Amino acid sequence: MSDCCIIVGASHAGVFLALQLRKEGWTARIKLIGEESELPYHRPPLSKEHLAGRKDLDAISLRPAKLYADNDIDLLLSTQVSSIDTEKREVQLDSGETLGYQKLALCTGASVREFIPARGLGNVFYIRTAADIARLAPHVRKGRRAIVIGGGYIGLEAAAVLAEQGVNVAVLEMSQRILQRVTSPAMSDYIQALHESHGVRIHTGVEVESIREEGQEKLIGCADGTEFRADFLIVGIGVNANASLALSAGLESEGGIQVNEYCRTSDEHVYAAGDCTIHPSLIYQRQISLESVQNANDQARVAAANICGKEQVYDAVPWFWSDQYSIKLQMVGLSTDYDQVVMRGSAEGGVGASFALFYLKEGVLIAADCVARPKEFMISKKLIKAREKIPAEHLQNEAVEPINFSTA
Ligand code: FAD
Repeated sequence: MSDCCIIVGASHAGVFLALQLRKEGWTARIKLIGEESELPYHRPPLSKEHLAGRKDLDAISLRPAKLYADNDIDLLLSTQVSSIDTEKREVQLDSGETLGYQKLALCTGASVREFIPARGLGNVFYIRTAADIARLAPHVRKGRRAIVIGGGYIGLEAAAVLAEQGVNVAVLEMSQRILQRVTSPAMSDYIQALHESHGVRIHTGVEVESIREEGQEKLIGCADGTEFRADFLIVGIGVNANASLALSAGLESEGGIQVNEYCRTSDEHVYAAGDCTIHPSLIYQRQISLESVQNANDQARVAAANICGKEQVYDAVPWFWSDQYSIKLQMVGLSTDYDQVVMRGSAEGGVGASFALFYLKEGVLIAADCVARPKEFMISKKLIKAREKIPAEHLQNEAVEPINFSTA
């Protein structure tokens, strides 16, 4: 057995974990292995500044190349781990090489869900990697027509960038409203109006059944008989956790790699962090999976500490953000399962709006969605963690400062 810690996946979780291991006092070797060829980069700008051409790949690097060397981290890019032998504590690379480990951390992330009717067609794009953007970017030109399939955050962020570049965009969403899985009707309505005011057409309750090609044009046929035409398509219909490597190694995985509150898998020498995991949420008292930079970083921090022999528990409040046009939407907590929603401020005014939506369950704040409300966002993180009852009238009343929500 080697004394090495091997980390599979060199993105948000993997990079943070590697650096954190050094901070926690890991003195043995660290191998950080990623299948992508680029120096690890921030993924969120892919559907934002990078797609818009405002930041190139160098500007979105997670860390400079030198930092890996300075921390004695062997960064192996363009390298895939093809299997794990937990008995021998070895991983096999796609090159056929075998590497031993003392501890293994799986940070394999997630992959886009394929939209089957578009399989095999040209000019159909997904947004997960820098390589995806390199393929898509040349098509983003004034006057072109794009259909975005899926009205989730990534599809909507891409729609905003395209609209700003003069592309004629329509979003087709199967649910009755955009963002249905992740937010309340009030926020969906606000975001829809925001897009429509920028010329994006949003069609909800439409199920795409077929896509045909007529020359360079795509004809998108929906279940209700409507048809759309486009030059290219962007698909954003969600992701699946990359758990197959763990599953074939016999680690408990169903819809994600199962970890406990210590970010440890069903094998005591193997940890996992980030989008690839399913973990117990102490706040929400259920198993959850999250796709966010916060979760990737916070789980990586806990996994690194525990690999180094500490017993740290993961109990972070989830938070996310989304940039569309000039607005920054900040979300904290999970807004499923609420029994009351309270608005502070007003959602009128498009890009100039300033409001927060608070989600309560039995009087306890469980989530908040904020537009131009940084104080409300920050305080909500603390209140959600505290799990205290907060009077709805305090949340709503602009005369009550956010700092006094629980005490006023
Ligand atoms: P990933 O970033 O998915 O990285 C996993 C890495 O592991 C990949 O590089 C993959 O190639 C590699 N890998 C997998 N299997 C193997 C293997 N067998 N061998 C070697 N390498 C392997 N989150 C937010 O909080 N806010 C946002 O605004 C936001 N915007 C986003 C916009 C886009 C377009 C996307 C795609 C995501 C966005 N996210 C956002 C989500 C966020 O980027 C993810 O939660 C985050 O990247 C998760 O990091 P991760 O390290 O767990 O996984």
